[in-house]
Amino acid sequence: MIGETVLEINLKSLAHNFEYLKSKIKSSTKVMGVVKAFAYGSEAGEVALKLQELGIDFFAVAYTNEGVKLREVGVTQPILVLHPQSMHFETLIQNCLTPSIYSKFVLDHFIASAEAHKQKNYPIHLKLNTGFNRLGFANQELDGVIEKLRTTKAVQVEGVYSHLAASEDLKEKEFSLSQIKNYEAMSSQLIHQLGYKPLKHLCNTSGILNYPEAHHDMVRTGIGLHGYSNDFAVDAALKPIATLKTIISQIHEVQPGESVGYNRKFIAEKFTKTATLPLGHADGINRIYGKGKNYVSIKGEKAPIIGNVCMDMIMVDVTHINCKEGDEVIVFGPELSAEVFANLAGSISYELITSVSQRIKRKIIN
Ligand SMILES: *Cc1c(COP(=O)(O)O)cnc(C)c1O
Repeated sequence: MIGETVLEINLKSLAHNFEYLKSKIKSSTKVMGVVKAFAYGSEAGEVALKLQELGIDFFAVAYTNEGVKLREVGVTQPILVLHPQSMHFETLIQNCLTPSIYSKFVLDHFIASAEAHKQKNYPIHLKLNTGFNRLGFANQELDGVIEKLRTTKAVQVEGVYSHLAASEDLKEKEFSLSQIKNYEAMSSQLIHQLGYKPLKHLCNTSGILNYPEAHHDMVRTGIGLHGYSNDFAVDAALKPIATLKTIISQIHEVQPGESVGYNRKFIAEKFTKTATLPLGHADGINRIYGKGKNYVSIKGEKAPIIGNVCMDMIMVDVTHINCKEGDEVIVFGPELSAEVFANLAGSISYELITSVSQRIKRKIIN
């Protein structure tokens, strides 16, 4: 049967990666599966339900609507919303989602919302800024947080967390260690003043691998579940869960001097056989991957992307490959790492896999 462009998601590989990551932490350490951005471009509902079946403790998403979708498909575990917007607090409460509270502004708004909805001890996680300077309370704001929390019974601090800026980069080890130290000092101060002990969590995937001393009560993993770890040695033990496949739509025989594609960015120096594939920059195969930088795999051989990437198509050089219209093409997957593909053009696996457009069909393999 002739196929089409499809993103296959292998849930067995997901289970393998989950077990691998668990082997890197103590059995008492909880795991939060980060399934934001359609579970890194895969299929959030299926991935989350599989992780729930495997016994994961927590989920995290970036925005409230992502958490609502998980509730709709039957996710019952707690879901932390990492970056909620105040206008969605009512929806967040109605769906039993857990807000990350990162500023005084958000704290005041959330408490007002929780009180208006007659909540008691609604769980929140406090985000601390330990050096990333993206979201989170500064050290000098913590007294004010405690004071505000004392005025209400509507919320309770279930978690205190922070995020490492460069856990994958061992050249930045000194900085990561300073973040770990800041986190310990700030969270201890908070917990002392709260008088009860919430869950502490700091590490993402590379933090799990590189800073075992900082695992605390829970770790958060996203990319590791997808089979990438920012470390090629560890990648060898993981299994990429997503395979982006397509087919050859048409083959052209291009004579010397002829051009291929928009703005004639490929000019044939010799006879060239090209294949046109049905995916383009609207599908996440960005223009940076074109003009010979990247390649796809056809019959196990490298076919360079030539000329400019179009919105819905790319053209690849198959002069040296014995292939025909309808044949299968691998863009990335277990045999052709998304990290390698992304790195060729100065990108990273995270960006490539989360960019696969929603018009590409997802096929779940269990
Ligand atoms: C996305 C995200 C993670 C997951 O990071 P990975 O490197 O994919 O494991 C963890 N924590 C926070 C706060 C995040 O935003």
